[in-house]
Amino acid sequence: MNTKINLNPDYIVSLIKSALNRGNGPFPLHEPLFAGKEWEYVKDCLDTGIVSSIGKYVVNFEEELARYTGVKHAVAVVNGTAALHICLKLAGVEQGDEVLLPALTFVATANAVHYCGAVPHFIDSDTTSLGVNPGKLEDYLKDIALVKNDFCFNRQTMRPVKAVVAMHTFGHPVDLDPLLEVCRKCKLELIEDAAEALGSYYKKRHVGSFGKLSSLSFNGNKIVTTGGGGAVLTNDSNLAKLAKHLSTTAKLPHPWAFFHDRVGYNYRLPNINAALGCAQLEQIDLFVRNKRALAEKYRQAFSGAQGIALFTEQGYAQSNYWLNVLLLDEEYEGMRDPILLTANHNGILARPPWVLLNKLPMYQSCPHMDLSIVESLERRIVNIPSSARLGEG
Ligand SMILES: *Cc1c(COP(=O)(O)O)cnc(C)c1O
Repeated sequence: MNTKINLNPDYIVSLIKSALNRGNGPFPLHEPLFAGKEWEYVKDCLDTGIVSSIGKYVVNFEEELARYTGVKHAVAVVNGTAALHICLKLAGVEQGDEVLLPALTFVATANAVHYCGAVPHFIDSDTTSLGVNPGKLEDYLKDIALVKNDFCFNRQTMRPVKAVVAMHTFGHPVDLDPLLEVCRKCKLELIEDAAEALGSYYKKRHVGSFGKLSSLSFNGNKIVTTGGGGAVLTNDSNLAKLAKHLSTTAKLPHPWAFFHDRVGYNYRLPNINAALGCAQLEQIDLFVRNKRALAEKYRQAFSGAQGIALFTEQGYAQSNYWLNVLLLDEEYEGMRDPILLTANHNGILARPPWVLLNKLPMYQSCPHMDLSIVESLERRIVNIPSSARLGEG
């Protein structure tokens, strides 16, 4: 096959279209699907007037999230960024600490670290997961870290390094076992940013159940949406209680008195949003099935192409394929932008990945390790339309 013909942007777009096979679009990157009891549950909130703070949908949503993910406790909050903020606080991240996190993630991951007064420290990715590279992290920590009395210090900055945030990129699970081992050796807490990974499994266990604390997001573009929302997951009952306490202004329960025992946050998820979430969660199996079916269509459409392929899950993983990724071979990285241009002209709203966070003005001066793998990935990733409805039938 002639690679030059194969990497013609028009040809790439025709392959995407052949997998979609649904008229002319436009095809947004990720649209929500409301095919269940959304109307019924939201109407119930309006009919009863219970739209805000406490309500049965919040309780139900938290229970169903815990059941679905196999984690003991879920605490619903107002968005995924707030969930991350609570996770970091409860992991003990404080002013002046460093937190290791991937350079390739949504800005929220670093912002939440910054909200704690801590410093993001960017780490490289793995070509097999697109997330944290445990081997490279371990080598790096051998170089720069001093582990003493259960604490980890950065010998270059003399700041305590408290935690690693692993993000499951576009729904693909990070290789968690070796990462947990690195965390154990270096006395670091593991937090999972599972915002994109509801419905993804690592060795048959749902992601978000490996870290001490994990966060989910239910933003409008995520696999399940509450309009805006998030959740903290943890197997630790005390941390779950604290997560609830901190996210509800740290008010002590009392029939009428307002007593707050620390600075808390107004991060609770309103009942009306949770109602939407309950209806959405009832359809998660369908969403995941459709998204995996869509990924398979893309995989097949690109199986004959050279220089570009659908990024697929590892043997240890079952991915929700939240956002499908076309990955260019290194010699074709210059084709990323021409493909994006042609796709968007054709109503296929393909996107590049996030700009690496170490390149953003507010995080430019933060510490980072060698980022050569993720820098290459950034130049070669194209996200393509991934709405659940596109995998139907
Ligand atoms: C969506 C997302 C979040 C949280 O986003 P919110 O919009 O605050 O819910 C955090 N991290 C990643 C990687 C995300 O994709």
